[in-house]
Amino acid sequence: MGKKKSRFETEVIHSGYKADEHQDSLVPPLYQTSTFTFANAEQGERRFAGQEEGFIYSRLGNPTVKILEDRIAVLEQGEAGLAFSSGMAAVSAVLVALTKTGDHILCSQGVYGCTFGLLELLKEKYGIDHDFSLMNSADLLEQEIRPNTACIYIETPINPTMKLVDLGLVARVANEKGIPVVVDNTFCSPYIQTPLTLGCDVVIHSATKYICGHGDVIAGLVIGKKEFIRQVSKTTQKDIGGIISPFDAWLLLRGMKTLPLRMDRHCENASELFRFLKDHPKIETVYFPGDPEHQDFSIAKKQMKQPGGLISFTIRGTKETAQQLMNQLQLIKIAVSLGDAETLIQHPATMTHAVVPEEERRKMGFDDTLLRLSVGLESWEDLQEDLEQALDKI
Ligand code: PLP
Repeated sequence: MGKKKSRFETEVIHSGYKADEHQDSLVPPLYQTSTFTFANAEQGERRFAGQEEGFIYSRLGNPTVKILEDRIAVLEQGEAGLAFSSGMAAVSAVLVALTKTGDHILCSQGVYGCTFGLLELLKEKYGIDHDFSLMNSADLLEQEIRPNTACIYIETPINPTMKLVDLGLVARVANEKGIPVVVDNTFCSPYIQTPLTLGCDVVIHSATKYICGHGDVIAGLVIGKKEFIRQVSKTTQKDIGGIISPFDAWLLLRGMKTLPLRMDRHCENASELFRFLKDHPKIETVYFPGDPEHQDFSIAKKQMKQPGGLISFTIRGTKETAQQLMNQLQLIKIAVSLGDAETLIQHPATMTHAVVPEEERRKMGFDDTLLRLSVGLESWEDLQEDLEQALDKI
């Protein structure tokens, strides 16, 4: 772009948009159109042949969507971005683009339930194998990377155990072997963690979460090198078709402007609730990257600007005790998803990770007594009081 790079709080509002290219509209306009007209047949031919810049059809590109893609690329410090109709459309487009039958994916020990489901599907239907790895030392990685490993796929913090993976360490080992490292950065948002700056190759977001921030859009984003993004855009996105609607892109552009403010508040509230839960006699263990006693606290210090807004905890008792606690809450809502203004609680074993077999869940490090809290933007005192009264009743 050739212009001076501004700070995150400024880029999240201004980058990727030039008002003089859009009738001087202050806010990016919504181009709610499926297709674009050509001045003549020859222009249509040139656009299809890639000889002339310009829009053709909204599955292949749309001006509102393009602003979002350029903005997220700046925030993640990548070369280019691509928007999708959901986080899972983004995950599947990337994994299908990077692998072929006979390949192997090395995956962090724990991923979102539907990503687990997708890995199983790729294995059963297309012969693309995978293994889960703790990824906690270079030696272990060297042992687990196979000659046919086509990519390394990481969530950190891992959903729902909040364990962390050292991104710099994995990137060093993988880069030497030319294996791309893909990171699902949903739990952090680029305000807290930027995997590309640590040597990773591709970042994925369920933009449904913190990037949107208002619980009213399902969307996904991918950021990486220009050539890789072009390849995904022209193949697995164009031909499978999981593109975002212009209106959802417009809502994301609107929601994103407050990302830094929201993340600061999510993290502040989560830190307060963590302190309360950690000391509560009915709680067995609390998993929060901001806990100095967290097993991966040193990794958090290295790669996360703040601890994030998610806390997982196990309750003393059984699955039923965990469910009773949820049922006693009055302010905190029972719902999957995260990153919204509203504080949400969910039971991973029967909700987001219900598709993961019990034995695999144990290997990931959680059981039926674990609950996951997505701390919202309300007053933390009100949230604490709600948790307190519910805990008193079980
Ligand atoms: N990745 C993570 C870490 C998630 O938590 C989710 C959804 O909860 C997804 C990916 C999938 O995103 P979406 O629901 O937008 O398809």
